[in-house]
Amino acid sequence: MAYRFTLAGNPNSGKTTLFNYLTGSNAHVGNWPGVTVERKEGRYKKSKEQINIIDLPGIYSLSPYTAEEVVARDYLSQEKPDVVINIVDATNIERNLYLTTQLLELGIPTVIALNMMDEVKGRGDEIDAASLEKQLGVPVVPITATKGHGIDQLMERAIEVSKNHEIIDKNIFENTKISDAIKEISQLLKTNGYASSVYYAVRLLENDEKINEKLNLSKSLQSSIHEIITKKEKETEEEMETLIADLRYRYIGEVTVKHVKKGRKEGELSFSDKVDKIVTNRILGIPIFFFVMYLVFQISLGPISAFITDPFVTLTSEIIPEAVQNLLINAGASDVIIGLVIDGVFAGIGSVLGFLPLVVLLFLCLSILEDIGYMARIAFVMDRVFRRFGLSGKAFVPLLMGYGCAVPAIMATRTLEDERSRRLVITLMPFMSCGARIPVYAVFVGAFFASNRVLTTFSIYALGVVIAMLSCILLNKTVFKGEAAPFIMELPSYRLPTLRGISLHTWEKARGYVIKVGTILLAMSVVIWFCQAFNFSLQLVEEPSESIFGIIGNVIAPIFTLNGFGLVKGTTQVHWQIGAALLTGLIAKEAVVSTLGILYINEGLEELTGALGIALGAHFTPLAAYSFMVFVLLYAPCFAAIATAKKELGSWKWTLFTIAYQCGAAWVISFIVYQVGHLLGIGLV
Ligand code: GDP
Ligand code: MG
Repeated sequence: MAYRFTLAGNPNSGKTTLFNYLTGSNAHVGNWPGVTVERKEGRYKKSKEQINIIDLPGIYSLSPYTAEEVVARDYLSQEKPDVVINIVDATNIERNLYLTTQLLELGIPTVIALNMMDEVKGRGDEIDAASLEKQLGVPVVPITATKGHGIDQLMERAIEVSKNHEIIDKNIFENTKISDAIKEISQLLKTNGYASSVYYAVRLLENDEKINEKLNLSKSLQSSIHEIITKKEKETEEEMETLIADLRYRYIGEVTVKHVKKGRKEGELSFSDKVDKIVTNRILGIPIFFFVMYLVFQISLGPISAFITDPFVTLTSEIIPEAVQNLLINAGASDVIIGLVIDGVFAGIGSVLGFLPLVVLLFLCLSILEDIGYMARIAFVMDRVFRRFGLSGKAFVPLLMGYGCAVPAIMATRTLEDERSRRLVITLMPFMSCGARIPVYAVFVGAFFASNRVLTTFSIYALGVVIAMLSCILLNKTVFKGEAAPFIMELPSYRLPTLRGISLHTWEKARGYVIKVGTILLAMSVVIWFCQAFNFSLQLVEEPSESIFGIIGNVIAPIFTLNGFGLVKGTTQVHWQIGAALLTGLIAKEAVVSTLGILYINEGLEELTGALGIALGAHFTPLAAYSFMVFVLLYAPCFAAIATAKKELGSWKWTLFTIAYQCGAAWVISFIVYQVGHLLGIGLV
């Protein structure tokens, strides 16, 4: 029979790191709360018996305030795993033990993993695990998940506990103000034939609706319990929930006083605290953030990046296609095949694949910032700003994930407490320019703004943020009225990023990018090539503008006449290619580049070398190019993201609203950009 071991703990306590170590998988590890949204499962690789490890979302308590807490709690109480491995961030032991006190009530065999012992030692603190174990009544094993220290021992203890079925029914409320109330409720449950445990008794005392429903208590029993609560509240002159939380903290205080010795004197600031004084400073916080982001762009788009990217682009858009072309000619391939492979496949994916180094560098920088713990600070700094717009700083985490890919980012909105914030953040998500749009900017900036690469790209990203904020104000006053939930994300300590962590993140991104290029974009390139070579009656066309894409593009493009890119530069000719490109961009944003690459190649440009850049120059003015980038930045995300949004929003009404809003905003802003630029006479030739 397979055992099920569940990892439960606070966000950022190292669950995923431990999970990866145990299962040998590569799940995402991040130094900020709220990274694991979906439950993950894997098999413990070092044991003969089958032991499945389940990584739950991080939670602070079992009182369900957020969607994640509900997932975790339902899993624990309904599916009863064989062992709960409660992972505790030992550098923050007081806060982490809060969840522990609740887990111990569940009656599931539990083992506590005291993680981050390397940091505890580094600070000169000491934790007496053996005596802690005695007091808590469950095994306590010190570990350092990042280095794999203590993990074998942890698993040994966990297996032992699961074999012995060491059911614990810890009651930390013995000899407190509420011990009699707990006893009374337990007794009531038992005599009335209900499942009875400290867990249920405490939950019922806290007036937990969900437990009430689940136990399906009779009316009379409910009112007896209610009486007990009111009596107690009168007696103690305190609200029950506060009283219980207070008792938990009191218990934790007693435990830690006995078993934890701080190396640092009271009031002395740790390294993290000192850095935070500057980085999260009221005045300096935001300028520092912008400066850091500018550095990131400088590294990933500036000279360093050009040094790697340029040869790579030459490789993918010149050397390889030419070699393949020669190969095909020598092999006597027909013109249609050569056309498909060179003008279709290579024109389509070569230009996108060429920007792989750029994507990798950008994500390398972002994952270093994340691993250090800086991103969590930004969320904190941004909270002050966001609050004015009716969002909590917590919303910053999913929004920031949006720079990678909107799909996991939209799922990460589950960490937000209320439906209103979730809808709002999902609507704003595409304004955080996702990784798939990078090739679009790279191609356009390379063709029109090569001397100002960093600044131009930075301005596009910054515009996305500004539009997100303005939208927030607008939507908050109209569609999504309300107040932000209080900000309760805590700041993790700064950590040196691990080489493994960073290479893993970056590898994940690079791999994802290559896979996408090799599958979706490859297939799309073939379809695109087909759609521009044939018409609706499936006949080869002479003029691409009469092809399937020509016809569709001719309908779409005129919408953008006032935005500067609906007509071909300096003519009254409909720029149907952009209509087709924006359409394919809904399948994958990189396809905007592939499509233009394929469509322009047919315009009598013999050489592939630099062809896309030259063709762009012939079709767009610099201003129109910028306006086009703005449109691509803001308009609806790809279908995968839309489908995820639909799933998370749970309604077509809201999904359609978000799409309409995004496309509307994209049109209006790119219109303004173009018209203002036109008035000022910027970038017209
Ligand atoms: P989760 O949110 O609980 O899944 O936590 P993660 O596994 O994503 O880890 C959060 C952060 O803590 C990451 O930056 C990890 O590299 C770091 N971390 C995890 N375990 C340890 C440890 O034992 N020592 C140190 N110094 N850092 C750790
Ligand atoms: Mg995690």
